[in-house]
Amino acid sequence: MSIVSEIEKTLDHAETLNGELNSFLSIESESSLSRAQLLDTTETVGPLKGVAIAVKDNICTKDMRTSCGSRILGNYKAQYDATAISRLNDAGAIVVGKTNMDEFAMGSSNESSAFGPAKNPWDVARVPGGSSGGSAVAVASGVVRAALGSETGGSVRQPASLCGIVGFKPTYGRISRYGLVAFASSLDNIGIFGQTSKDVADVLGVIAGRDEKDSTSADVPVPDYAATLNDDIAGKTIGIPRALLGEGLDDEVRESVLASIDNFKALGANTVDIELPYAKYGIAVYYIIATAEASSNLARYDGVRYGFRAEDSPELRQMYFKTREEGFGPEVKRRIMLGTYVLSSGYYDAYYSKAQKVRALVKRDYETAFTKCDAILTPTSPTTAFKIGEKSDDPIAMYLSDIYTVSANLAGVPAISVPSGLSSEGLPIGVQLIGNFWSEATLLNLTHKYETAHPLNARPSVFAG
Ligand code: GLN
Repeated sequence: MSIVSEIEKTLDHAETLNGELNSFLSIESESSLSRAQLLDTTETVGPLKGVAIAVKDNICTKDMRTSCGSRILGNYKAQYDATAISRLNDAGAIVVGKTNMDEFAMGSSNESSAFGPAKNPWDVARVPGGSSGGSAVAVASGVVRAALGSETGGSVRQPASLCGIVGFKPTYGRISRYGLVAFASSLDNIGIFGQTSKDVADVLGVIAGRDEKDSTSADVPVPDYAATLNDDIAGKTIGIPRALLGEGLDDEVRESVLASIDNFKALGANTVDIELPYAKYGIAVYYIIATAEASSNLARYDGVRYGFRAEDSPELRQMYFKTREEGFGPEVKRRIMLGTYVLSSGYYDAYYSKAQKVRALVKRDYETAFTKCDAILTPTSPTTAFKIGEKSDDPIAMYLSDIYTVSANLAGVPAISVPSGLSSEGLPIGVQLIGNFWSEATLLNLTHKYETAHPLNARPSVFAG
């Protein structure tokens, strides 16, 4: 089949499902088809030639809308491509649309989007997770094989888990953040969704690596991730932090995670009990550091430089206030207020500076654990997909959705979520593997072997692949 007809099919699927699932904020038919035509007539074979990719709406794509799910950016069109996007384009991939997300990537359910929530394709009364919910839905509903999302505290892994697909967060510095709209810069990463670990490996191989435009991107060689997917995992050691499998964890999720440990053992892996004593402070530390950085990063939305400007405000300061009042939603405002509070002179030492110290201890937990094991296994999310509206008035309950994911962002280590089964209600459950710095290849090898031995033999009914 020609690339044009493949892309026509993809765009059709996206359009048909979008009325119900709301996973795309824009579907880029024109540019996708003209790229497809061009690719059909060129000899060059990039590793992703003709592959359709969906991209979260906080990653800059030249001349395409980049709204961050926020009214304040509205119909803002990016002036340039993020490095990850130009590398995808060079490899022959086609960005078919920009996906729905929690406003400025703040949330775990997609409900804080200014454009309405994306819906979980397994049950449209439920959230897909967040903040990269739209990208997760685009992959889970079979529109695309792979999608980009962003990760500050779990926003790729958690929705992947709730939607029954693979979600991956790299080592901090592995993928350039140039062109990723900043939320909390010391925690932000571009992440990848795939229907399988192979999809993730294919995309990672293209976008990983040092970029001069991002001084925090690392000059660490990029291995051929796809080449080692099938390596034998016998003898690999998986660390189990049993203390994290207690209170607050849904029983069915616990059972599924325990079963996945046995499945890894059956593949020849060893297990060892480990401890992550500071993990319990992860959420508190994360919501101090993330909000502090966000309050500074979001200061740039002033009604002058980008997007939306409130009308009827003749005086400058009033225009700033009105623009921000009308342009930001309630969750973003809450975070800006929390962030300015923890950074204020009277509270800096008690909150921000303390949180930074505990962050170092969270990182040390991992360094100690990785002297004993190759990867750490935990649940990804404490529950399966919850109902739309169930937690939207309870920020603390929402924040606890990230209890298993935030510490990998605090430490900067890579992590991945793969489907481990379905609940009695037929909802996907995910299991998470966290790896040592730069051990992406090991993680993908482990999850590839796991998912080929234990595939999730079910798809949501709307799946159209
Ligand atoms: N759910 C977390 C938050 O609301 C994580 C978000 C993210 O990873 N972008 O901050």
